[in-house]
Formats: sequence, C-alpha cells, structure tokens
Amino acid sequence: MTRVAMLSVHACPLAHLGGRDSGGMNVYVRELARELGRRGHEVDVFTRWREKDDPRIQPLGPNARVVHIPSGPMGYWPKMDVYEHLDEFTERLIGHVDTEGKAYDLLHSHYWLSAEVARTLAPRWGVPRVQMFHTLGMVKREVMDEDVDGESDVRVAIERRAVRESAAIVAASRIEVGELRELYEAERAKIHVIPCGVDPALFRPMRQADARERLGRDPCEQMILFVGRIEQIKGIDVLLRALGSLFSRRPELRGQVRLVVVGGALDPSDDASESEKIHELRRLVHEHRMEPNVAFTGSLDQPTLALYYAAADVCAVPSLTESFGLVALEAMACGTPVVGTRVGGLQTLIEDGRSGLLVPAGDAEALAGAIARVLGDPRLRMHLAHGARDRAEHYTWRMVADRVEELYAKVLTAAPAMEI
Ligand code: UDP
Repeated sequence: MTRVAMLSVHACPLAHLGGRDSGGMNVYVRELARELGRRGHEVDVFTRWREKDDPRIQPLGPNARVVHIPSGPMGYWPKMDVYEHLDEFTERLIGHVDTEGKAYDLLHSHYWLSAEVARTLAPRWGVPRVQMFHTLGMVKREVMDEDVDGESDVRVAIERRAVRESAAIVAASRIEVGELRELYEAERAKIHVIPCGVDPALFRPMRQADARERLGRDPCEQMILFVGRIEQIKGIDVLLRALGSLFSRRPELRGQVRLVVVGGALDPSDDASESEKIHELRRLVHEHRMEPNVAFTGSLDQPTLALYYAAADVCAVPSLTESFGLVALEAMACGTPVVGTRVGGLQTLIEDGRSGLLVPAGDAEALAGAIARVLGDPRLRMHLAHGARDRAEHYTWRMVADRVEELYAKVLTAAPAMEI
C-alpha cells in the first residue's frame, strides 16, 4: 500500500467539466485517484479551494479523498494568479497535513503549478516526486500566436526544473517523450509513457437512433460533434471555417448537416471572458450564415456527453496541440469516428484510415474534406467506427492504474539511493 499525496493545484477532480481551465486533467486525476484507492492505496488529492460550497474534505471513493486548500479568494482565477498564491497554498497544505498527523510515501504532481509545490514538499517530507505535465509550455508556445495567459517564461522555467528534479515523469504518448527530450533535455530513463484511459461502462456504443431520441434530435440529420473547452488551442474556429467552406462547395448540405458544440460557459455571469470567446465564434457562424446549422450547448456532464457521442455521425477534434485527447478516446469508445488533427497524442491514438482520420492542424480545407468523406460514405463510417471501438479497448483507467502502480513501486525501490 502506497500513501500518495497527489497535487492538482488548479484542477479539482470534482470540478464541473468543460468550463474554463477544467477538462482532461480533472478527469485524469479523478479517475486515477479512484482506481488507486480501490486497490488499497491511500490517495489524498490536494487542490485549491475554488467553490465556496465545496466541503473542505470530500471523499472520491474508497481510500481516496479531495482536500481543498484555501489560498487567496475563492472563485475562478487565471493561472498566473494561482501561481502568485502558491506559497500560501504550500504553507496551508503543510499545516493541514501536520494537523492530521499524516505521512506520505510519494508525491504525484500534475501540471507546472503543482510541480512548484512538489519542489518544496519533496525535500521537506523526504519523498520522491512523480510529475505529469499534461501540456508543456514550450509546445503551447509553438502553436499559439500570443502568450494568452502571460505565463510562458515562468512556466517553462518551472517545467525545466521539474524535469531535472523529479524521480520520474509520466508522458501521455511517445510524442510527448520526444518533446520532453528535445525541448527540455529530459533523461530518457526517467520518462514513462502511460497513455490516458476511458471508463468503458460510461462511454460505450449505443444505437444512434436511441441516443437521438433521448436528446430530442432529428433522426435524419447528419451530426458533427465538437466537445471541449472553448479556447483557441482547441481549434474550434478552424472547424467553423471548415463547415463554412463545406457549405460553400456543397450548398445542398446546409439542409442536413448540423454541428453541435459542447463546452464552455454560456451564461456571462459564470465566466465573462469565456462567453466573450463564444460571442466571437457566433460572429463567425453569422459570417458564414450558419445559424441554423450550429448549436452551442454549453458544458455538459459526462453521462449526457455519452449520449451526444452516440448520437453523432462524426466527432471533430481540430486541436492545434493535444497531449492526449480524452474527447477523441471517449468518442471512439462510443463507436463514433473521429476526424482529428495530426498533433501530439491524437496521432498515436488514432490510426489514420483505420480508427479515424487525421488532418494537418489549422487546415480548414483538409478538415472539411475529411468530415465530408465520413458523412458521405456510410461504409467508411462503419469501418472507422469498428476500428475506433477496437482501438479504445486498449485504453482503460484500470490499465492506466496498473502502469502507475508499477511506476510507484519502481520509484520507491530506487528512492533510498536517491538524493531527495
Ligand atoms: N468534458 C465534459 N463536459 C464538457 C466538456 C468536456 O465532461 O462539457 C470532459 C470530456 O468528457 C473529457 C474532458 O472534459 O473527459 C476533456 O479532455 P481532453 O483531454 O479532450 O481535453 P483537455 O481539457 O485536457 O484539453
């Protein structure tokens, strides 16, 4: 039994998903902590106390808890503001652990913000650090026109140090291994490739007609689905341009093709800057006269999302970069073909022409062409759906936990010899 302090400073595993700064990492931490807890490990996930109605300590499952650490005011904050309060977070976390009289064998930290907390805690507690970045600042910098979060220099410096100091680094794909090696000079022996997982009981094939009936959707429409945080990096504007181009080439499709965009806060009082982004996207929809074809649902819980995956003919994942791409995997587990971009983990998850189609990132024409192929060819759709389901079977949270358990054992065996 390993006692794990899991650090996920800005991504609470119990957060409402699909809104600003909450998505795949929250799901990853939640599922991994639960699965490890079921196996008898003791897992405490430490995260910033963001919602005032959340209890200080919340159970996640057997042997797994979420501990909310107060630091600064409640509510959503940009990541750099979270960074400014990290010392306070760390102090309060230490205070909490001292009061409970608990001890841990290992620290597992997620993202650069948590890496910085782990840096203080590891020598203090005399335990090794396992680090997973989820996304890397240097990779994001390469694909974004501007440093929207104003974080990149600080972030990259913290990531570099974490690469040097952690006992082990978890990479979600072999592509991330290359990025860690080339951009961060990481030692190969430290990096362990452990892909992400999916819950096959939740995301499973269902008859499309049944899913559409439950959602009250037209049984005859051709439905494209997008799921994700509403951020530039997810490529949603590329997808809207692709749809515009498809309609200008084939106007007859306007009557039958619908795009459903799931994610984001629709109510401006929830998140002003995100609803501003949705406003921009609506302008793009208007420019291409696609109002009847595009619907924004806002964020949805995962059981409802499972119905949308099953209802869709194709799921588009047009991200500019993606360390893994849980949305693609969830769609595949539901037997829905994915058209994704040839970036990061997506290109290792999706086998082009077998379990989905891959197109270059940022290329609206290529995306339009691939979507049109899937929509226009039922045999191809069937072929990709089968391939997707077969592929998804290789990725479950149980398998992720198997590999993480092995990694913990390895790190703990090596720990006494390590300088920590
Ligand atoms: N998600 C959700 N509701 C939404 C939008 C997204 O539950 O409205 C979940 C989705 O099921 C997936 C995660 O958020 O598990 C997004 O993960 P992904 O790896 O695709 O993207 P990330 O957020 O990590 O960039």
